[in-house]
Amino acid sequence: MQPSSRTPEGDDNTCGVCGKELRIEASRPPGDATCPHCGSLVWFSEEGAAAIASASRAARWWHRAQVAMGAENWDAAERALRKAAQADPKNDDFARALEHVRQQLQSLRPPHRRKRRQV
Ligand SMILES: [Zn+2]
Repeated sequence: MQPSSRTPEGDDNTCGVCGKELRIEASRPPGDATCPHCGSLVWFSEEGAAAIASASRAARWWHRAQVAMGAENWDAAERALRKAAQADPKNDDFARALEHVRQQLQSLRPPHRRKRRQV
């Protein structure tokens, strides 16, 4: 017999009320679920909840950055990407896009006065 045919995407957690181990499907709205053992409302681990919160924050900033980039508003894009990267520092897409936008900004702005004026 196979141990399990389904591959739960649930988060391992422990119920704070009854102390039993939980594996809750992640299909529910993020953050909370009901303990199958005692029926109390449990939260995913704090890190998990925080990660979900910052991921959705990152997604919002990422969306704004996309709009700003589409409008070639590089300043706004840079700001939004910085926020997105802050919220989700491990996201390579954010880092790459941020670098791209910074290059755009640099190519548009005159370099910091390198040349000295001859008087
Ligand atoms: Zn419980």
